[in-house]
Amino acid sequence: MLFILGFRPGLSPLIFTQNYDLMTCGEIRWELNDYIDRELTPEEMHMVTTHLTACVICAEQLLLNRAQLIHIRRQLGRIQMPAHLEAEIFTTLSRAHR
Ligand SMILES: [Zn+2]
Repeated sequence: MLFILGFRPGLSPLIFTQNYDLMTCGEIRWELNDYIDRELTPEEMHMVTTHLTACVICAEQLLLNRAQLIHIRRQLGRIQMPAHLEAEIFTTLSRAHR
């Protein structure tokens, strides 16, 4: 039997951080991809890490998101952009920034 800090059946586990902010599982899910890419502030990274060390549900979701991101990025790496399309995009972007 697993015991999760603050876990109550039917409710999201709640975690108290050092700043006594609450982060729900829903809030953590929004941050997971940025957490994987380390695009959060150091304080946000700490808050998510604290939640993940106590919440098995979100920790499993982290593993799923990471596997999906790796898969998607591998697939994207195989897609070749036509040379003319790349040129058109750069032309459009340069016009937009004038
Ligand atoms: Zn959670």
